Amino acid sequence: MSTMNRMTYYRTARSAHFERLDSVSPRLFAFRNRSYDFDVNSEEALMRQCGPWRFALLVLREKPTIVELNEPADVRSWTTLVPALLARQLLRICGHRTRVVAYAIENGDLEQWISSKFPRCKRLSVPIFTWLFFLIWSQYDRVAFGTTQAQHAYGALGAYNKRNTGPHFQLVEALPSACSCLEQHAGPKSGVLFFGSLERRKGVHTLLQAMEHLSADVEVTIVGTGPLEFLVTAAAQQDDRVQYFGEGNRTDMHRLMTRAEVVVLPSVREDRWREQIGLPILEGLAHGCTIVTTTEGGMAEWLTRHGHHVTTPNDPVACANAIQAAVSMPLGRDAVLETLPERDGRLTADDWLGMPGRAYGSGGLTTDPRRRFR
Ligand SMILES: [Zn+2]
Repeated sequence: MSTMNRMTYYRTARSAHFERLDSVSPRLFAFRNRSYDFDVNSEEALMRQCGPWRFALLVLREKPTIVELNEPADVRSWTTLVPALLARQLLRICGHRTRVVAYAIENGDLEQWISSKFPRCKRLSVPIFTWLFFLIWSQYDRVAFGTTQAQHAYGALGAYNKRNTGPHFQLVEALPSACSCLEQHAGPKSGVLFFGSLERRKGVHTLLQAMEHLSADVEVTIVGTGPLEFLVTAAAQQDDRVQYFGEGNRTDMHRLMTRAEVVVLPSVREDRWREQIGLPILEGLAHGCTIVTTTEGGMAEWLTRHGHHVTTPNDPVACANAIQAAVSMPLGRDAVLETLPERDGRLTADDWLGMPGRAYGSGGLTTDPRRRFR
């Protein structure tokens, strides 16, 4: 397959997107902005940084078979993805079929977000945004859901209408496969690790408050930077059990995750934002760690089913109890790794998005969550 047969265009490129490119079918990877962690040279042949209209021109010129865009419920990406959708419509008029696909993990509350953005004209803005969402959603041909919570969120937006005019969709849990670094370092595991951004919504404040309810032998390593760094630095000075590592790179991540017994991410809701998956959770699972998190994350259902600890958000006592339980009776590396698929769920979802078959027009849903969630 030519690399131009398949194109991906994201509003923001992250290192994780780039790392995945080696394991998926060849494609052009284009993006509008780069995130703070994206330190890849975009001069590489298969990568391009460009605006949404330039990307739309590229679609018209190259006539790809598949275009992957940001997911329909990601409102902030609408201005990025609409030009590409228009380009696809133009191609369709000219008789060329391009499949538009997305990977969906959004689990925020769109209605709540609109109400907070436009508090004075809620009655008008909510129906307008819901209608726009539906218009955009119906332009997609296939959508792979990474979490059951995302599937719920799209249901709440009325995505699964009776006439089935939307895309085909499928749930492929966003589970990682075991990290290959474990083959070299399979030593004993111990301690608790928080590896992420030091901000309120990642719940690092809950973890610090939980320290006073934890026994004297529980050691917590915190890695990352962010606005709450001052709290972490102060805690590390006052409490011998807290170690602040500072900013960590990918090599540190693998090393620390391999050694940690428990990975904690007590995410908290902020406005419309809810933890979609939580990268540290996936990294923790891939390294056989027991997870402690909150009900806010998209993986909460799966984690509960598989013996990890899921608590209410903003609750230091519950967080401490969960950490204490996880430390005294961890699931164990092998038991955690056994629950993971051989191929990363994100890659399996990508395979499905590109698989030939009926993916155009209306009807014939792959799965019908209406029946399941009603
Ligand atoms: Zn690793």
